[in-house]
Amino acid sequence: MRIQAAVSREGARFPQLETLDIEEPRAGEILVRIVASGICHTDMGVNGRPGPRPFVLGHEGAGIVERVGAGVTELAPGDHVVLSVNFCGECPSCKRNAHSYCYEVLPRNFGGLRPDGTSPLSKDGERVFARFFGQSSFATYSLADARCAIKVPRDLPLETLAPLGCGVQTGAGAIVHSLQVGAGDSVAIFGAGSVGLSAVMAARLVGAERIIAVDVVPSRLAMAKELGATDTIDASNADAAKAIRELMHHGVSHSFNTANAPVSYTQSLECLAPRGVAGFVAPPNGQFAPDMFHLLSGGRALRGILGGDTTPSLFIPMLIDYYRQGRFPFDRLIKYYRFDEIAQAFEDSHAGRTIKPVLRMPI
Ligand SMILES: [Zn+2]
Ligand SMILES: [Zn+2]
Repeated sequence: MRIQAAVSREGARFPQLETLDIEEPRAGEILVRIVASGICHTDMGVNGRPGPRPFVLGHEGAGIVERVGAGVTELAPGDHVVLSVNFCGECPSCKRNAHSYCYEVLPRNFGGLRPDGTSPLSKDGERVFARFFGQSSFATYSLADARCAIKVPRDLPLETLAPLGCGVQTGAGAIVHSLQVGAGDSVAIFGAGSVGLSAVMAARLVGAERIIAVDVVPSRLAMAKELGATDTIDASNADAAKAIRELMHHGVSHSFNTANAPVSYTQSLECLAPRGVAGFVAPPNGQFAPDMFHLLSGGRALRGILGGDTTPSLFIPMLIDYYRQGRFPFDRLIKYYRFDEIAQAFEDSHAGRTIKPVLRMPI
């Protein structure tokens, strides 16, 4: 079967739409007609770095199951699904449902190939790398690993649900699961992009007393306030850690850093109260050395977080319930683009003009 896909090629700034061939589902795979796909910073990062090429990226796909391969019993044609992280199902992390820490997380999500070394995509016989996060959703169809698929209700638009697969669940999961922020806690959130704002909404949901959003874009800070931040700090002209300590003299119980400037890492530690925990989701884009005395003297911790420590099959349906109740309005982060506007969507996201771009695929 022929499909349209946005292909990342060597030397090109943005993925370009091309016609590709896709295989039929093998055992454990599903063919999904992609209705929409979110764009996440990981897509832009991988597109901009050397790696497997040509490669179809995209890892916030949402669509309708068309066909299922042998052994797939929990999904059937017609099911609406959101696609999330891929995992092996066998390793110690997977056995504890900590899928984002699967021992095979890198090859299964970034390797571009099935575990047997084949790819479901090709162009005129030339191999095209696929299986990005088990899905490669920048395409009209995805041949996904069935493990990536989370069944979702049919009465909600798939184009709204797409970003739940990565960015939204990462931000919300970081608050609920990784940092376990609870009623009465205080949290400083660095970066008011889609991950940070999802964290703001989740912090409000769990009853955090103080939710301090830090960013350098005033419109994002205004959005943070609307979504539940009790305080906002414009870090373009202030030392955020100092400003946080002016609000809370002893510091906050938790911080969550979604930015990648080294100063954000430093400040997300400096603002912590004793026994505080600082979570982060991306490596710093420069030199950063934590103040080990500060960590030791207050029993503070610095904690890497992938995927928000969630079990997507449990967490995504829960977030959908909160969305229906009006308590988790993540749709406010979304701006829609046509599939052929993918370059514009990348640029708008990179420039901070769009918080969560979602591509709508042609029918
Ligand atoms: Zn595993
Ligand atoms: Zn992502």
